[in-house]
Amino acid sequence: MPTKSLAGSPRGDLELEVWGARGSRNLTPPTSKIANYTSCYSLKAGDDLFVFDGGRGLGLLSHAVSSKQRFRSVKRIHLFLSHAHMDHWEGLKDAAWFWQAQNGLKLTIHGSKETIETVQRGYGHPAYVPLEILASSTLRDFTFTTWKAGESRVVRGFRFRTFALNHYSGMGNDKNHLSTLGYRLRSREGFSFAYLCDHEPTAETESIEASMLKDANVAIVDAHFPDRSQHAFGHGSQEHAAALARRFPKTFVLAGHHGPTASDAAIRRAHRQHGKSVRNFAIAAEGMRLRWNVRRGLSVSRRQIERP
Ligand SMILES: [Zn+2]
Repeated sequence: MPTKSLAGSPRGDLELEVWGARGSRNLTPPTSKIANYTSCYSLKAGDDLFVFDGGRGLGLLSHAVSSKQRFRSVKRIHLFLSHAHMDHWEGLKDAAWFWQAQNGLKLTIHGSKETIETVQRGYGHPAYVPLEILASSTLRDFTFTTWKAGESRVVRGFRFRTFALNHYSGMGNDKNHLSTLGYRLRSREGFSFAYLCDHEPTAETESIEASMLKDANVAIVDAHFPDRSQHAFGHGSQEHAAALARRFPKTFVLAGHHGPTASDAAIRRAHRQHGKSVRNFAIAAEGMRLRWNVRRGLSVSRRQIERP
């Protein structure tokens, strides 16, 4: 039986899907069996679609929304951006939602003030066409919403909390810290999801990671590098992601944001090395789909885990 959300709309299974799990750049042509497109993950809940980051994977997701039966119910899209780096919002201009006339969808883009202002500048004249103009003849409604770290709000029946992640680019005098938000959502029925991307774990960030992963059913974690000793430029590793999976055995940890030059063999090697016998740890691979409902809990196809 479908359950009722806080907003009162009927909800059955929640579906989490991976659309873009490559960090920093897209692989062109798409040669990887794991990840070719920059960050994008979706969680479908009835007629609401929550999206985490708008990299090039967003183009694939938006195409699926307009063409696949399983997305037919979607009316509202809530896109949560982690930070201002272009590889997390470059997919917006490819999204079918901005090109299909009067498509009836409502889109809200969430992010920190720095992120939203960067997206608006990035698509503003003369770099491109402001998204509001693209939206005017396509979407039913289009808005931006800003968040600070440490906020808590209900969005369509889901309790969202934001966390300050540790992300930067450059080094020395060129080091630029980004206002980066980690998101955690919880449904009234008890499903909880954490998104920690992009993020470089340190001793100081341990408590944030614990707050986000504790009791989460699924977490997507920055695993840009294979090893902890390589942590740099605001990114984490498969080794650290595997350690989180050991520490939080009830949380299914997906290692995402695979490094821009990492081969499939290298990604799998790191996973085997660090994730040996950790059953709740997997590589985030594009096309992967996880389901949750209140009766059965989380279901993941083993085939997708073993052969991403
Ligand atoms: Zn970044």
